[in-house]
Amino acid sequence: MSAAPPPPRRPGFPARLPSLGHAQSSPWVRAAASAAATVSGWGLHSAAVCQRLVQRLAVGGVPSPLVLQAMGQVPRHGFVDSALVAQAYEDTSLPIGWQQTISKPSVVARMIELLLGAPLAQQHGLGRVLEIGTGCGYQAAVLSQVAREVYSIERLRNLHEKSRSNLRPLRLANVHLLLGDGMLGYAQGGPYAGIISAAGGQSLPQAWRDQLAVGGRLVAPVAQENGQQMLLVLERSEQGFTESVLEAVHFVPLKSGVA
Ligand code: SAH
Repeated sequence: MSAAPPPPRRPGFPARLPSLGHAQSSPWVRAAASAAATVSGWGLHSAAVCQRLVQRLAVGGVPSPLVLQAMGQVPRHGFVDSALVAQAYEDTSLPIGWQQTISKPSVVARMIELLLGAPLAQQHGLGRVLEIGTGCGYQAAVLSQVAREVYSIERLRNLHEKSRSNLRPLRLANVHLLLGDGMLGYAQGGPYAGIISAAGGQSLPQAWRDQLAVGGRLVAPVAQENGQQMLLVLERSEQGFTESVLEAVHFVPLKSGVA
């Protein structure tokens, strides 16, 4: 792979993101970051536009430098159809085919930030993460920048294949793509320091609770009794589970089986 030049900076934008703390010095974070930084075809223009998105996210309330840096490493335009490339760095969800959507960048950032807030991640950096709903693979790529290993499950064969080809140029050795029903989790890869769902169900599948490590966090949209989907954070401790219901969100439905 050829080394890409560093992205140009806009006036007023810090030349360097603030220190990322101990997690930045983790070897897997550095290795993954350098892999993403050398993606071929990641042109100067796209890199600059991506940095503007990062800047907007920072202003819009994503305080974690680690998450902002990860978002700045992933070329989102490589995950959407060519007709939508002009919108790739807007803070909006976009169609990716098969009635599914690529998540809104601010929501991706928010959920990953919540994962990083788990006690285990705070102490040791984020270890193994399970993502339910690979879709086009964008969030898996962002996760690969902050986690040691990413296991990402998709139930739609077509999207599973699409994510594989979208991710191929990034050569992210720590992303493992799986075709399957994410409601069953992926016990072989667990227990997980983080579980993140990009699809919303009526309740949290038992397998997710079982596969969450002590000190880990699960972040997922779940429908409440009134039908409103809310972002839920479940943290596991030696004593059991603590659940927090956060803001309202709009995710595609969590469905069972492979199609
Ligand atoms: N993470 C994606 C978002 C994809 S949208 C991104 O970066 O943009 C959510 C995805 O969840 C859809 O592709 C949908 O097919 C998938 N999904 C829904 N239920 C699922 C299940 N039980 N197991 C695995 N994937 C599921």
